[in-house]
Amino acid sequence: EASFARIQEVDDKIKAFVTVNEEAREHAKKLDEALDKNETRGLLFGLPVGLKDNLMTEGMKTTSGSRMLENFVPTYSAAVVHKLAKAEAVMMGKLNMDEFAMGSSNETSYFHPTYNPWNTDYVPGGSSGGSAAAVAAGEVSFALGTDTGGSIRQPAAYCGVVGMKPTYGRVSRDGLIAFASSLDQIGPITRTVEDNALVLGEIAGQCQRDPMTAAEPVPDYLSALTGDVKGLRIAVPKEFLGEGVADDVKASVKEALQLFEKLGASIEEVSLPHAEYAVSAYYVLASGEASASLARFDGVRYGYRANATNLQDLYDKTRSEGFGDEVKRRILFGTFALSTGYYDMYYKKAQQVRTLIKKDFDDLWESYDVIIGPTTPTTAFKVGEKVDDPMTMYANDILTIPVSLAGVPSMSVPCGFSNGLPIGLQIIAKPFAEDTIYRTAHAFE
Ligand code: GLN
Repeated sequence: EASFARIQEVDDKIKAFVTVNEEAREHAKKLDEALDKNETRGLLFGLPVGLKDNLMTEGMKTTSGSRMLENFVPTYSAAVVHKLAKAEAVMMGKLNMDEFAMGSSNETSYFHPTYNPWNTDYVPGGSSGGSAAAVAAGEVSFALGTDTGGSIRQPAAYCGVVGMKPTYGRVSRDGLIAFASSLDQIGPITRTVEDNALVLGEIAGQCQRDPMTAAEPVPDYLSALTGDVKGLRIAVPKEFLGEGVADDVKASVKEALQLFEKLGASIEEVSLPHAEYAVSAYYVLASGEASASLARFDGVRYGYRANATNLQDLYDKTRSEGFGDEVKRRILFGTFALSTGYYDMYYKKAQQVRTLIKKDFDDLWESYDVIIGPTTPTTAFKVGEKVDDPMTMYANDILTIPVSLAGVPSMSVPCGFSNGLPIGLQIIAKPFAEDTIYRTAHAFE
């Protein structure tokens, strides 16, 4: 009831939701009744959760922020949705996002933008902007987002909440509408580090329906919250505090680092020499993969279908009318980069860069436990400020994308404010060391 009331109260202004699940009330009642008979309760018993709208929910509209799926109702639910249900969370509905998760501001959603709860003149970030805003505004206890190049961490930073992008392969992508399958990961967005650890523990683990999930056992993340970072070896890449990063963000991150030092951690400057090529490589790879992932939206199998006179016409019209500008830009660019004659020049080259970036990170894990820097170069920008300038919008992801290409886990945790807008600290660790990230973040929180 509190969650419904809060949605009623603020969502006209925030616009985080695409679909509110009216059946949540019934579900909550059933859980309540079962409580009387049952002794054990799920770890997320009764907690209101919101889901990014690219996570499939059986019987409930799943739009991926697109006209293409405006009326699409899946016949099955994502693996993470099953896991949340098993843990007895109550699903409050589906949260707004950039169309097919392509964007950094939630402005590419077909339906409407979402606004930053701290100041509605500003964007909440993207593409999981609805998820971050709903949590920041107290509409839900926690939310799930997805991150391909920064889409959990960047909106978490802009909205002053905690957002974890787990290791690639840590959480099943079964039932996630793919953007770029070699990068996509699902993760929790929460108000505290502890909540985050709790939720990841419930959704992580190997899954038969996602062959890329790892057999790696899921540790008890809560036991990592010791508050102790004595002896923790922190690396700070100089590229993460370079020219493009705003002074207020730098100052806040430096303050955080001093605090870690006070708590007994050691800090050293390092370099990620190939990080500067990450954004270029990412847009070739992610767009190439997206051009393939989105080929299925042809007017025949799913979603939107245009009126047409023949099959070719059906494909053309459906895709012209169903996709927005940003999605089309990626499909065209991705198709071009993958085409015969250009493959070696762009896609293969980008893969080689990706390998070098991964190696930059690998080289650090022997000497350091975590890498720390800002999540984003600036605080949230104004609604409309970058919407017509894709290159500036892309550059915004400069600090999150290298991590995505390396496939390592990384979390944004609030570390300060500037002019009333939150600043995010990014904590990165080696593959499957989410527990180290939680330990680090918790000591700081
Ligand atoms: N902003 C980046 C993009 O548009 C990242 C998106 C994401 O992580 N889904 O590709």
